[in-house]
Amino acid sequence: MASTPFLQAIAITKTYPGERIAGLKKTSLSIQPQKITAIIGESGSGKSTLLKLLYGLLSPDEGEMQFKGERIWGPEEKLIPGHDAMKMVTQDTDGLNVYAKVWDNIAVLMPNTDVAAKEERTNQVLKQLNILHLADKQAFFLSGGEKQRVSIARALITRPEVLLLDEPFNQVDTSFREGLQQDIRQIVHDTGLTVIMVSHDPAEVLSMADELIVLKDGEIIEAGHPKTLYQNPQNLYTARLLTNCNILSHQDAAYCGISTKADNIVIYPEWATPTGSWTRKDWAVKQVLFKGSYEDLLVEKKHITLRLLNDQPGKYQVGDKVHIKIGKYLEF
Ligand code: ADP
Ligand code: MG
Repeated sequence: MASTPFLQAIAITKTYPGERIAGLKKTSLSIQPQKITAIIGESGSGKSTLLKLLYGLLSPDEGEMQFKGERIWGPEEKLIPGHDAMKMVTQDTDGLNVYAKVWDNIAVLMPNTDVAAKEERTNQVLKQLNILHLADKQAFFLSGGEKQRVSIARALITRPEVLLLDEPFNQVDTSFREGLQQDIRQIVHDTGLTVIMVSHDPAEVLSMADELIVLKDGEIIEAGHPKTLYQNPQNLYTARLLTNCNILSHQDAAYCGISTKADNIVIYPEWATPTGSWTRKDWAVKQVLFKGSYEDLLVEKKHITLRLLNDQPGKYQVGDKVHIKIGKYLEF
């Protein structure tokens, strides 16, 4: 017997009042429990709409949302909108009381009936989010990244089964982001939390997600494991979201020695390698963008510019002539 899906959308649609174009076209999907699912897509593609529908902050026009086989109630049907087994964190940390200490900001969400349990649980989430050292600090003095950690601790203290994140790391700088991403992965691993996150940062979704859902114009155009989608995207749109790739028309592909019937070919920066030791050096290095452990090289031939990844920084200078070996490309 098939078990009841954890969280699913069954043929839902959503058009905002007064709008002609649907925020979300007919969509069905099933979210795997105890995993991180990431939703990616251009701005306006319907990511937040889908997240709000899953949470019950919006009602679908057609179809149904279900959590463990039961219909998720919309905002018209519930006193406090949002499913009780879920919590949502967005970019805005307005929910924090900036005059209160971090500890109180978190503990306030626990009932006062069992003070010892409240204390223990508060300390536990402070530890999980690595903010125990901030417990006595007034929220006003926290950095953006620290505030975001407090917001997530507040969401988790009541042990929701699902945590929904709508681009919560946007205001957080890169070094902070990575730590927070790792901690969330750890929490999912340790507690069996289910996370659904919206992001438009390829590095973030590729390193964090177990499952990726790609939205375009209110439609899911593909879904799967991040590695699969990265290596073999079925759509040019997906490749563009996940990498800083080179897109060539088929005429330009021919200039690069690739004959194709497809409209476009896509070459990821790591799929093309420069070699200085070839006789036919028909590409010129136009720019060298130092990235620390590697470089991005912009090379040019006629009107075509390619971005390549060079893992031997310092090897090429602007003006050098190189041969380019294209090891792999995709056709669309
Ligand atoms: P994303 O989160 O991917 O940027 P959204 O889900 O916010 O996209 O929006 C999807 C589409 O629905 C967009 O075209 C947006 O303009 C529209 N939309 C979103 N919220 C509203 C609203 N409250 N009223 C009218 N249109 C909306
Ligand atoms: Mg959004």
